Amino acid sequence: MAEVVTVLLSNGVRMPVIGFGLAAEDVMISKGSAPVDHIKASVLTAIQVGYRTFDTASAYFTEGILGESLKDAFEKGMVSREDVFVTSKLFPGDSYPQDVIPALRKSLEKLKLEYLDLYLIHIPAALRKGVVYPHITPDDVVAMDLQGVWRAMEQCVELGLTKAIGVSNFSSKKISDLLAFSRIPPAVNQVQMHPNWQQKKLREYCKSVNIHVSAFSPLGGPGNSWGSNNVLDNPVIKEIANKHFKTPAQVVLRWGIENGVSVMTKSFNPTRISENFQVFNWKLDEEDHEKINNIRQQRIEFMEKIFVNPINGPFKTAEELWDGEI
Ligand code: NAP
Repeated sequence: MAEVVTVLLSNGVRMPVIGFGLAAEDVMISKGSAPVDHIKASVLTAIQVGYRTFDTASAYFTEGILGESLKDAFEKGMVSREDVFVTSKLFPGDSYPQDVIPALRKSLEKLKLEYLDLYLIHIPAALRKGVVYPHITPDDVVAMDLQGVWRAMEQCVELGLTKAIGVSNFSSKKISDLLAFSRIPPAVNQVQMHPNWQQKKLREYCKSVNIHVSAFSPLGGPGNSWGSNNVLDNPVIKEIANKHFKTPAQVVLRWGIENGVSVMTKSFNPTRISENFQVFNWKLDEEDHEKINNIRQQRIEFMEKIFVNPINGPFKTAEELWDGEI
């Protein structure tokens, strides 16, 4: 089994740089009632292959199955609780100060864990109460009391419910707003990042304030409504993959890791779970990086379609949501 490469977070805890994502559109659309046995098998395969970071969220309806899978893995002696790094996220419908601690306790109950390694605010906005993915419209998005919600996130650390806290889908400006009052700064910002949306400005800013950037949809999310095949089908990526006798997925995951981010990738296919982990003990060269740096940048519009409301939302334009970042 390959060695687990880690990054040191600002709270002093190490996070393995390749993570196993648990967002699956069919499970989200069915609110968790789609058959999930294959997910459990995938988690156990991932553990055997060497994955130690697991990325879920209340919105994914996979906390329960991840919890069952980990319990099974602990009982079989495959890994112990200390060996794995588990992330979950605050559902935006719970992004109200009084709802944060109960929401985390509910997540822990589903995960059958006593603590998380990382708890993230899923998006920089709240949803009206009662709204459930995927039935979200721009009218359901409301401003979040960021200061109140963050204070409750900090209490989650103080209560021992999570080791680290962070954010997701936050721009540099939104992080800077948060840093102005945070007592415990966010350890991580999880954002969509891949060769077609490289997040250069955000990565530079996060580095300057010691916040680790974690990449979601590092393959570009092929097959998901929020993603596309454009990353894996990019001729530049294919050419680099051929040169190194690797697959396009391995090239883009390696590219992310060489840029200092952790990559949260999802596959429920045993061959691809293993393929995606073969990203250590080889390197991209300078020329590869230069070619990837020159790929035309394009923000994926999925989030904007849900979260931008020109009439009465907290983000009236895409500019207000992303603060001009690409
Ligand atoms: P992704 O890892 O870029 O793409 C996953 C898709 O690629 C799946 O359809 C998978 O299908 C396919 N795939 C996996 N490995 C492959 C390979 N080697 N070759 C070809 N296709 C491959 O991204 P994602 O699913 O959009 O997101 C990954 C994780 O990021 C999620 O599970 C979640 O944990 C997190 N996420 C976070 C947010 C947020 O707002 N914070 C948003 C989205 C996602 P198979 O399963 O069939 O292999």
